[in-house]
Amino acid sequence: MEEPSDLAKMENIVSLCKRRGLIFPSSEIYGGTGSVWDYGPLGVLLKNNVKAAWWREHVQLREDMVGMDAAILMHPRVWEASGHVEVFTDPLVDCLRCKQRFRADQVAAGACPSCGGELTAPRPFNLMFRTFMGPLEDTAHVVYLRPETAQGMFVDFKQVLQSSRKQPPFGIAQIGKAFRNEITPGNFTFRTREFEQFEIEFFIPPDQGQQWFDYWVEARHRWYLSLGLRPEHLRLRAHEQAELAHYSRATTDLEFLFPFGWSELEGVAHRGDWDLRRHQEYSGRDLTYFDEETRERYLPHVIEPSGGVDRATLAFLVDAYEEVAGGRGTAGAEVEVVLRLHPRLAPIKAALLPLVRKDGMPEKAHAIFRRLQQRWMVDYDSGGSIGRRYRRQDEVGTPYCITVDSQTMQDDTVTVRDRDTMQQERLPQAELEQFLAGKVDSCAP
Ligand code: ATP
Repeated sequence: MEEPSDLAKMENIVSLCKRRGLIFPSSEIYGGTGSVWDYGPLGVLLKNNVKAAWWREHVQLREDMVGMDAAILMHPRVWEASGHVEVFTDPLVDCLRCKQRFRADQVAAGACPSCGGELTAPRPFNLMFRTFMGPLEDTAHVVYLRPETAQGMFVDFKQVLQSSRKQPPFGIAQIGKAFRNEITPGNFTFRTREFEQFEIEFFIPPDQGQQWFDYWVEARHRWYLSLGLRPEHLRLRAHEQAELAHYSRATTDLEFLFPFGWSELEGVAHRGDWDLRRHQEYSGRDLTYFDEETRERYLPHVIEPSGGVDRATLAFLVDAYEEVAGGRGTAGAEVEVVLRLHPRLAPIKAALLPLVRKDGMPEKAHAIFRRLQQRWMVDYDSGGSIGRRYRRQDEVGTPYCITVDSQTMQDDTVTVRDRDTMQQERLPQAELEQFLAGKVDSCAP
């Protein structure tokens, strides 16, 4: 069996995503934008499952975490305090001949990579999108689309602390959109100008930094593995001292082996008290915590695991994607695709397939479909040969295909086909809920 080359594999994944309604170019009928993507009918399910798995693990199953959902538009002073107005920039160069613009650190030897023309000296370019709040478009009304979700959690720290009655160590978790006017977007959904993040700000007593930093690096690593990333495709990379962002005491990236190379999936940073201290200074509000037991007042330190929902979704797709040369069963097939997504992430958990479109089978299958639909995203498909219908489900990662056949009409059993092994077992249809719950709801790897 020949493996596709990595770049061919990436192209094939992009085309599968388009063909099967996972991810489309945004505004495609106008030629697209090249820097943002839309999640289609199956893509939104997959992405929602990625977010739900994260939320379940880090909010629902913990006693020391609460969630929140901050607004995208924040007071402009937030971005002065956070340092984004001042330093969230990439140095840019323009070509004097062809007028193209590049990141200075991505062009070698001072010549335009496109036409060889002369380049301007590097100038800073702020990555934040600017807009205006209210009808007046003047500098007094400038606001920014947030470039990260993190600041909402720092700014609301005191309100969350008081309303939830938590005490350090405890965390706030948030999932939401972020916007960056990236100079070089690309590699599909890896780097886009509008994307989604899942971030945790974990507030701790100052002397517990190292232990919680190590804890979160390990916990986030484990989460990706538990949902199907291959251990050999995931590595940790600790930042060198010189590479650390100005606010960071230590950062470790989780890097994934994308088809275009090892790249950052998530960063875990020890931010010290930098953020709370700055917001305290800029807002004039007291953001300290008073520990009743030790009678000590302090500014909590923060460990931040900050990941991208789109990058995570792409990594899960990449590691799930398999091309089977010669097909999985269809005679004469050249290549068939199976998306071996973790059942928790699969957009559709099961498909109901009547073997033939007669003898009461469609009605029976549809009735089971309606019942399972109460709990899961399920599909009903009666079109084409059974083999073709299996292939269609394999391609989008549906873990189970439930077939209603003539025996069902006699004894009320159905066959359940497993996507990965292609084995079928026969079950009383009354046991389907129990069967599926044990498989698609379980969080075991
Ligand atoms: P990079 O070096 O790739 O630009 P970063 O270090 O600037 O990333 P962070 O600011 O640490 O990224 O953001 C946290 C996470 O948000 C990243 O690990 C990534 O998963 C996601 N992310 C950041 N920028 C983008 C983007 N333009 N498109 C998609 N996801 C992004």
